[in-house]
Amino acid sequence: MRTVYVNGDYVPEDQARVSVFDRGFLMADGVYEVTSVLDGKLVDFAGHAARLERSLGELDMASPVTMEDLLEIHRELVRVNGIDEGMVYLQITRGAPADRDFAFPDPAVTPSTLVLFTQSKPGLADNPAARKGMKVISVPDIRWGRRDIKTVQLLYPSMGKMMAKKAGVDDAWMVEDGVVTEGTSNNAYIVKGNTIVTRHLGHEILAGITRAAVLRFAREAQMVVEERAFSVDEAKGADEAFITSATTFVMPVVEIDGVALGGGVPGKVARRLREIYIEESRKAAV
Ligand code: PMP
Repeated sequence: MRTVYVNGDYVPEDQARVSVFDRGFLMADGVYEVTSVLDGKLVDFAGHAARLERSLGELDMASPVTMEDLLEIHRELVRVNGIDEGMVYLQITRGAPADRDFAFPDPAVTPSTLVLFTQSKPGLADNPAARKGMKVISVPDIRWGRRDIKTVQLLYPSMGKMMAKKAGVDDAWMVEDGVVTEGTSNNAYIVKGNTIVTRHLGHEILAGITRAAVLRFAREAQMVVEERAFSVDEAKGADEAFITSATTFVMPVVEIDGVALGGGVPGKVARRLREIYIEESRKAAV
């Protein structure tokens, strides 16, 4: 049985409890991070910790423990659960006040709730899905206006995944004002020649930790990177496409709304960036 972390304690998963009054449960008033594990080590923990602090700050929340403590908790969970490849999920909510109330509780009276757990995912790096590539459909982006904050409010992304599933494909790219924002749980990219195009940062998308690393590696490999919006039509005419996220790394996209890209097989830029990303992540993991 898995060991999970809840508010200072390491407990068997079937004994892990939070209150029914927790604002994460009642109001999706919480933030999260997912850090992947390769060779039993954490990939880009510093990046995830920095984004967590930013998410908390934007919502006037504080972490109940320091980032150094969080690193130790991550490591301890990876160790006790024997994770070689997989991920660590972390969630901080605004805690459980005595009564349900829209107003934020006083943090001095209501401490935030901190939960972490691991998921083992053997084959994360050597993923057969990366050799096949994935298919996506486009769906309207009707999420709220602060997608740069990594909140646990994930209903619409879940609905997007279900729309994809119903359409017989793997994921959905969300479209707003005629341009692609991002995937349901990942950042979206197209490639034309030697140029990689991905949506510029702003309130409209989450600043992916994998995105930052992959763009850095792409520039180091002399590829041209354009951070700007692109339409679904432009994507359909691209040479290749891919997504990035902490748990999928770089994953080729081979079809958009039924239109095959690059002959329906993963493109060379996506494959190369995946290799570089995994290699560099293994080296830098802590
Ligand atoms: N956008 C959204 C909406 C996401 O949910 C995620 C994954 N959490 C990402 C982008 C990718 O972020 P990261 O590379 O930090 O996993």
